[in-house]
Amino acid sequence: MNRLERIQTKIISDAFPELAKVTIPVRWKPMSDAYFETTFGKKREYSIDVDCSLKKASPDVLSGGMAHELAHITISFGSTPVVIWLDSLLVKYSLLYTIWDERRTDRLVIKRGYGREFLSFLKYANKRRQDYKSNVY
Ligand SMILES: [Zn+2]
Repeated sequence: MNRLERIQTKIISDAFPELAKVTIPVRWKPMSDAYFETTFGKKREYSIDVDCSLKKASPDVLSGGMAHELAHITISFGSTPVVIWLDSLLVKYSLLYTIWDERRTDRLVIKRGYGREFLSFLKYANKRRQDYKSNVY
């Protein structure tokens, strides 16, 4: 188990038990516009890419970003196919919805006990904001 897998396993066990039986491949990937990116497959398949620049980040920073991605997956995992479809359309066409969706995801991270780590991630990301094109993680 590599570092990313260990962090993911711990967060799922601590805070997102509904994902315990879901396989979520996680890997380092060079990205220019995001620190974390979750891919949502058609049949509730998920994978998480983590930007290589985070290899030197602290465990809290990595955990905070990972918890945010797992919160996205938890919300999707608990939704019906129609809601998932509507959500994908709204994210595609509405910046306002996307921002609302991101903040709802942040609130879930806090509710599940990873607020401190998420704050570490936000501080890290905000310091380097100019290097990245979007404010969506
Ligand atoms: Zn997000």
